Amino acid sequence: MAENSKPSYKFNKSKTKVPMREQKPEERIFNFEEVPLGYTEQEATCEGQRCIQCKDKPCVSGCPVGVDIPAFMRLVGEGQYEDALRKIKETNFLPAICGRVCPQEDQCELACNLNKPQQERQPGGVGRVERFLGDYAMEHGLNVTPKCDPPTGKKVAIIGSGPAGLTAASDLCQRGHDVTVFEALHKPGGVLFYGIPEFRMPKAILVKEIDGLRQMGVKFVMNYPVGKAEPLKSIRDRFDATFIATGAGLPWFLNIPGENLNGVYSANEFLTRVNLMGAWRFPETDTPVKEIKRIAVIGAGNTAMDSARTSKRLRPKKVYLIYRRSRLEMPARAEEIHHAEEEGIEFNLLHAPLRIIDDGTGAVCGIECQEMELGEPDASGRRRPVPIEGKTKIFEVDTVVIATGQGPNPLLTADVPELKRDARKGTIIVDEKTMQSVTWPDVFAGGDIVTGGATVILAMGAGRLAANAMHSFLMTGSTQPA
Ligand SMILES: Cc1cc2nc3c(=O)[nH]c(=O)nc-3n(C[C@H](O)[C@H](O)[C@H](O)COP(=O)(O)OP(=O)(O)OC[C@H]3O[C@@H](n4cnc5c(N)ncnc54)[C@H](O)[C@@H]3O)c2cc1C
Repeated sequence: MAENSKPSYKFNKSKTKVPMREQKPEERIFNFEEVPLGYTEQEATCEGQRCIQCKDKPCVSGCPVGVDIPAFMRLVGEGQYEDALRKIKETNFLPAICGRVCPQEDQCELACNLNKPQQERQPGGVGRVERFLGDYAMEHGLNVTPKCDPPTGKKVAIIGSGPAGLTAASDLCQRGHDVTVFEALHKPGGVLFYGIPEFRMPKAILVKEIDGLRQMGVKFVMNYPVGKAEPLKSIRDRFDATFIATGAGLPWFLNIPGENLNGVYSANEFLTRVNLMGAWRFPETDTPVKEIKRIAVIGAGNTAMDSARTSKRLRPKKVYLIYRRSRLEMPARAEEIHHAEEEGIEFNLLHAPLRIIDDGTGAVCGIECQEMELGEPDASGRRRPVPIEGKTKIFEVDTVVIATGQGPNPLLTADVPELKRDARKGTIIVDEKTMQSVTWPDVFAGGDIVTGGATVILAMGAGRLAANAMHSFLMTGSTQPA
């Protein structure tokens, strides 16, 4: 938009968000391209103008990294995209990513003052506008890499390059520390790279966002699983402070008969094969994935939706999603559930897997499930699924993907039993305000390695909290700001 034709800010009283164009379901199930197509400048400007610029800014408190949402919405509403981008990047250096995958409906948009029953309106489309800004920066080659403070001479190790590690790396680098990120895989980004599929999070975007960190001076050491390539103790000796952000990449299984059969994958393996290793382009790539005719995906979180929608694009005859609770309890984002249904994934709710069936050659030929009904609420507050006696059902499938959760990988911590962890979950125990380990003052941890599987923005929030405390620790020896 030309400089002199920028619209001035005027409120857009529309009750609903400016819709976002999407690839049609019947087309997108044959490709891995992104499903929502993003806003044009005009659409973004109209959505920015829906923000009512309220004084109490509940959306900012609803954002784990405290982005000044009304400020960037207003700037977008005025057509000042570059300034809006600068504003957002003050607190969030991954807008193109957060705009795509953050559960805004449970955070900033949930808190939005427009989203009150008496308003009868949809909240401001914060995520959509945020995504627009991230994409706008890339399309226009805008370089808003933040400036770094003069070098402090302090060296920091970050273990793991998911959103927690990347956020801490960015914040610590800006404060003048010498930051090295160690990553076990050959590509940085954590779940954003190996887990979330291309049609939801195009990898080119992630690569560009991470390039920004490299330009700032962050060093990346890839193919370096700490705990195997080098013990954690040795990293501590080489660096002034260490941030552990290794996520929760160890899949949980169901412990039912048949889980070792050919054709059973953990969601992690399935998604890593397809997303990270590019199995959907095999034999162009080196890694294959099994040819699937009928597949059952177990679970109902984002990981399950991603597995089901990914498998759909591998052209099977049938994709079943099997979940032991009801629709109300499904943990995935509403948008993911909606997209999965549109794409023809068959939901089988209130079904709990009992056994995976062997075809006689060691391969899967079916999965038997117990039919369930909802009973009283359990410790999580959700109604407990209870078996309906005598009612089971067999799904004829050749592939099963287990997507029922994951915990911390013990590789890093295996040789340091003294690093205090939760005995049951294996998560690292930290001071919640500073993310400092309760064992070693120079070691901090955050993201899924502390919380167990959570969200991108919570991991980023933890990275920010840790970076603040680490900076104080490095400069003063105490985590309290001087
Ligand atoms: C399939 C899937 C879909 C999801 N969808 C969403 C979504 O839509 N929205 C949302 O908000 N959240 C989503 N989540 C959750 C979100 O991705 C995670 O909460 C978030 O990525 C956690 O960030 P992290 O930095 O703690 O860890 P991770 O992203 O897991 O990154 C950890 C990194 O550490 C590396 N690592 C592990 N061990 C070592 C070691 N010993 N040495 C060196 N490196 C190591 C790993 O290889 C990895 O790259 C999804 C999760 C999955 C699995």
